[in-house]
Amino acid sequence: MKEVTLTVKKEFVNRYKKGYPLILEEALENSKVLKDEGQLITLVDKDKTFLGKGYYGKQNKGCGWILSNSKNSNIEYKFFYDKLRNAFSKRMKLYHSKDTTAFRVFNGEGDGIGGITIDYFDEYYLITWYSKGVYVFKEHIIKAIKSLVSFDGIYEKKRFEENGMVVDEDSYLIGRKAPEPLVVKENGVNFAIYLNDGAMVGVFLDQKEVRKSIRQKYSRGKRVLNTFSYTGAFSMAAAKGGAITTSVDLASRSLEKTTENFRINGINPEEHDIVVEDIFLYFKHAKEENLKFDVVILDPPSFATSKDNRFSAAKDYKDLVKSAIAITEDEGVIVSSTNCATFNMDKFKRFIDQAFKECNKNYEILEEHNLPEDFAVTNKFPEGNYLKVVFVRVY
Ligand code: SAH
Repeated sequence: MKEVTLTVKKEFVNRYKKGYPLILEEALENSKVLKDEGQLITLVDKDKTFLGKGYYGKQNKGCGWILSNSKNSNIEYKFFYDKLRNAFSKRMKLYHSKDTTAFRVFNGEGDGIGGITIDYFDEYYLITWYSKGVYVFKEHIIKAIKSLVSFDGIYEKKRFEENGMVVDEDSYLIGRKAPEPLVVKENGVNFAIYLNDGAMVGVFLDQKEVRKSIRQKYSRGKRVLNTFSYTGAFSMAAAKGGAITTSVDLASRSLEKTTENFRINGINPEEHDIVVEDIFLYFKHAKEENLKFDVVILDPPSFATSKDNRFSAAKDYKDLVKSAIAITEDEGVIVSSTNCATFNMDKFKRFIDQAFKECNKNYEILEEHNLPEDFAVTNKFPEGNYLKVVFVRVY
């Protein structure tokens, strides 16, 4: 494929000099010459001074990633091999852990190649490609994985659509097929994983520290409400820690998935509540019935549309916290989480602060979390650390 040299607009040059890895279309003088995704790009300033080397690949944000800031590096097999080897060896401790068998082994630009993540699920690897461009390097990536580690099988998700949706097709790639479910462990809690069942496989690995904290510090003898509960991952952590949980999710699949997760953890699902309902209706009913919880977990998607409600984290998080305050016991705890990349931790804390002010309640921040260590991030791209979680005590 033909390599192209593109000139960066004056006002963006400094940013790329400092190592900003995302190639923005608006930063380029002549982006029109970009034709084939996967083609290599050299960025220069108007005096032809080298700024970086990368590839063209369209994502919801940006049109590619810088892979190297060195003029002499060749973007070929050895380059990908070195990045993967480095990333895998950083996770050695996790590979040796007996009670954690699922974690992220490669996290995009945080490990030096934007646009690709690789997760490990007990002898299986799941590669997620975020553009047609990065998919062009597939052979190198697979070859590197094969030469670095042994495995049972590899699966892949192609999130090529610019809205980040998965192209719906078979995710199986090579090796043995994974059992369904594939049961993995995270700090001793079991999770049922389906590698070939759409975009989401059953657990979001980025919440591991939050689940650990909920289990260890906020669960013994507590009543815990888990909203937007999906497969009930937070409920498992809480139940293992000694809580009685209520899980609420709109999707009917959540009933069977959450029940399954309780079973594989040796917990009787009958002792817990699993409610299939729009959470905004649930809040309404809970308030009318004066239901209260010791711990309320809020982990909504960035956007959600249901029959009666439309939720956007950037617009509606404050109201979500207000709904939670109304059904949290005095001295109870609200765990507020968001993966919305359009606002940062400071702004997120302002939403929370406003919610408490408007409810005439006091609060104390007990804990704050971002991405865990295996979700490597680079300080050249702070927005890559999208996860924000705040534990607050309600007074
Ligand atoms: N907190 C979960 C992940 C949430 S994924 C975890 O830790 O694993 C988002 C979930 O929100 C999906 O399962 C979706 O069905 C659910 N959801 C979206 N809109 C909702 C609504 N209005 N009420 C309840 N659940 C909703």
